[in-house]
Amino acid sequence: MKMDSKWVDTHDVYAVPYDTPIPGFRNNIVNTLRLWSAKAENRFHLKFFNNGEYVKAVMDRNRSENITRVLYPNDNIFVGKQLRLKQEYFLVAATLQDIIRRFKNKKYGVRENARIDFNTFPDKVAIQLNDTHPSLGIPELLRLLVDIEGLPFDQAFDIGVRSFGYTNHTLLPEALERWPVTMLQNLLPRHLEIIYEINSKFLAQVAIRYPDDPDRLRRMSIVEEDGEKRINMAYLCIVGSHAVNGVAALHSKLLKIDTFKDFAEYYQGKFQNKTNGVTPRRWLLLCNPSLADVIIERIGEKWVTNLDLLQGLKKFEDDGRFLDTLERIKNDNKVRIAQYIKDEFDITIDSTSMYDVHVKRIHEYKRQLLNILHVMTLYNRIKDKPSEKHVPRTVMFGGKAAPGYHMAKQTIKLINSVAKCVNNDPIVGNKLKVVFLENYRVSMAEKIIPAADLSEQISTAGTEASGTGNMKFMINGALTIGTLDGANIEMMEECGKKNIFIFGMTVEEIAELRKNGYNANEYIKKNSELSHCIDQIESGFFTPDDPDLLKDLAESIRYHDRFFICADYDAYIKTQDQVSKVYVDRKKWIKMCLQNIASSGKFSTDRTITEYATDIWGIKPNTIVLKSPYEGAEINN
Ligand SMILES: *Cc1c(COP(=O)(O)O)cnc(C)c1O
Repeated sequence: MKMDSKWVDTHDVYAVPYDTPIPGFRNNIVNTLRLWSAKAENRFHLKFFNNGEYVKAVMDRNRSENITRVLYPNDNIFVGKQLRLKQEYFLVAATLQDIIRRFKNKKYGVRENARIDFNTFPDKVAIQLNDTHPSLGIPELLRLLVDIEGLPFDQAFDIGVRSFGYTNHTLLPEALERWPVTMLQNLLPRHLEIIYEINSKFLAQVAIRYPDDPDRLRRMSIVEEDGEKRINMAYLCIVGSHAVNGVAALHSKLLKIDTFKDFAEYYQGKFQNKTNGVTPRRWLLLCNPSLADVIIERIGEKWVTNLDLLQGLKKFEDDGRFLDTLERIKNDNKVRIAQYIKDEFDITIDSTSMYDVHVKRIHEYKRQLLNILHVMTLYNRIKDKPSEKHVPRTVMFGGKAAPGYHMAKQTIKLINSVAKCVNNDPIVGNKLKVVFLENYRVSMAEKIIPAADLSEQISTAGTEASGTGNMKFMINGALTIGTLDGANIEMMEECGKKNIFIFGMTVEEIAELRKNGYNANEYIKKNSELSHCIDQIESGFFTPDDPDLLKDLAESIRYHDRFFICADYDAYIKTQDQVSKVYVDRKKWIKMCLQNIASSGKFSTDRTITEYATDIWGIKPNTIVLKSPYEGAEINN
């Protein structure tokens, strides 16, 4: 391949490595996670300084170091900022140079002074692209192998494909990275050239397989030509990797039959599934020590590294003493959180009420709006019939909105407005409380999740790739109210339909409704409770100081209900009523919690990583038992 482009007037930046220790769990191994920081090179600053250009020298320094100043806070949305592109390239370039340096230092099977044989590179190196954010690693590896190491393009491409794997994390079209060609041309001209070369060779192969199908070539092109020319980074990853996976069974299936249909058809066997997991060390042993202790009392502690062993708890389902213990532990956790909420947010909650918890990034597809509509419905029912029996609930919301995401911020405003109204209404009293957990983050998740009774996993079917919050709740003995989406489906398969509250439309039903033309207003008209709630948002019932404040939100529900909130409202409310009924049947509820804990073994990240190692990276676990460096210490393997 002829090299037509080269960098001129470059902006040179140093990548400084920081090795963060990642200790294994009682295995005497500490791995390092290498993180990079951008540092300005120093050479020319004195010259600028001497010429009286001190400010320019400092500004230049900032321009370099800004590359790693911030992590972009967006969730499931692509924002094509040039600084972000620089950041992605910077991290990938540093890492690939580091990988190649290490590979060369090892001199695998190479005699003295002989040339390095890069054909063994894929046997020694596995590079997993965690979403498309590091996808520039593909053209960067080819650049290093072709331009620096002198390999022929086709050989370099083959080495790349055998080294890279790609994990997709979302189906939402607005989240897929599609960088404008003009931006790549300006910043990374050589990489663009390599991407074009990959694409033309790929399309030539597709054309051989499917002659006379120009539309298929257009659809599969890494370079999108309709509208502003863009590079589809997901397509680049699929073509440049030997394995592509989704993060739950449904998600992986939808990638194959929908999002990447043409590619799945073309590359038989390249597409796989790797269902996500969470670490039982953090999400049970560390965050819920009293639950961990009683489990250890009953079945020992091997479950900590082999979570399937939690199945052993099923034999205690009729052991009244054990069920009482589970209930007591949950109660203790709930009392602790009541105090925390009093201290942090000055809200008094009833620790015997059902803790109904919805914590995750604020996003329309996750449907916090559907949940707050249920809260408003409960409020309206209490106000309507205050003397009727209402099962007390504390509904907690937590999560951050991306800074520029208007609808997400309106949702937070609505939650806080409803909370203010509900929490201060003497008619409501302890029957209903609403808490917005500010600054929700992992350290708060570790406190809140062990105290939850009900886990809200209510995304529109086909939108949540997997979810991991759902798994954390299950392991900690909360029951799930959820849609047939992401890993919820596999959780249901593990614990059985009778131990989870499933509601709402399936992926297929939503596709059908979309095809036939969905009109949210029809659903609003048919349901008086829903209709009342929408009216309240529109009229500013919960925001009397500024009645028009949430009009964009109301309009979005009524006229652009992209995530089928109104279509699922009725099923959601009915299922929530069912949840309340079961909650007062304490025996039944606790038994369901036990079944959930005992069925959560699949959702250990140990299982996930073992599958990546076996099916994608081609590596086996190290069987060498390392001795503890501490004299006299017991080795617990
Ligand atoms: C686990 C976790 C998430 C992911 O939650 P989902 O429900 O899967 O979206 C988000 N934020 C924090 C702080 C978490 O701990």
